[in-house]
Amino acid sequence: MSRLLIPRKTVYRFSLYYRALQRLKTNSIETVSSAALAKAAGVKPTQLRKDLTYLGQFGTRGLGYDVSALATKLNEALGTTRLQPVILVGVGNLGAALLRYGGFAKEGFEILAAFDAEASKKRGAGLPVSVFPMGKLRELVRTKKIKMAILTVPATAAQEVTNELVDAGICGILNFSPVILEVPDGVVVNNVDLAIELENLSYFIQ
Ligand code: NAD
Repeated sequence: MSRLLIPRKTVYRFSLYYRALQRLKTNSIETVSSAALAKAAGVKPTQLRKDLTYLGQFGTRGLGYDVSALATKLNEALGTTRLQPVILVGVGNLGAALLRYGGFAKEGFEILAAFDAEASKKRGAGLPVSVFPMGKLRELVRTKKIKMAILTVPATAAQEVTNELVDAGICGILNFSPVILEVPDGVVVNNVDLAIELENLSYFIQ
């Protein structure tokens, strides 16, 4: 099954299943039923079974899934078997906080470098990676074959920076700027907006 044919929401749930399986592995659990795995991931068993059909045949009726084998298969499907290099653009409040977070590596991602229009001011700010001027972006992305970027620039600069990222060869953008980015076919943008998530929560707590 080609990656592109798997629906986005299914790929998102793959990450939920993968995390649930990691927890089971930590607890030395070797097999899991679809009902138990679905519960651990917070989805319905029918949804889980449907999603896993994209990975081929899994599990034996009555015995459940082999935790390790399924985790490996999901890991391969998500493309996170090796540490994936990522860059971050916009080292302000949010960008710097993300750079300081040390937990991405254990999830399979490494922020290799950061870029900012005012790189000189951002140096030596106690960050774990170097902050380069935007002029260095293309060269680094190409030589290190980086495909993913985190975008934390102001809304007014987001499209212009996106164009630079795409020109340099970036094809996956995690966008925190409150802007709908225009990108060519083949480039994927995932938007993160805490205000929308809060709004959604607010609706459900009424
Ligand atoms: P900030 O002003 O502290 O930082 C922005 C950084 O981007 C600065 O360091 C600035 O020098 C740099 N920058 C500006 N123009 C640039 C360009 N053309 N090229 C490269 N770098 C450039 O802002 P912040 O508070 O960190 O917020 C950053 C973005 O994240 C904003 O768009 C904000 O709306 C958004 N945000 C989103 C969420 C969310 O939930 N998605 C939460 C907080 C902030």
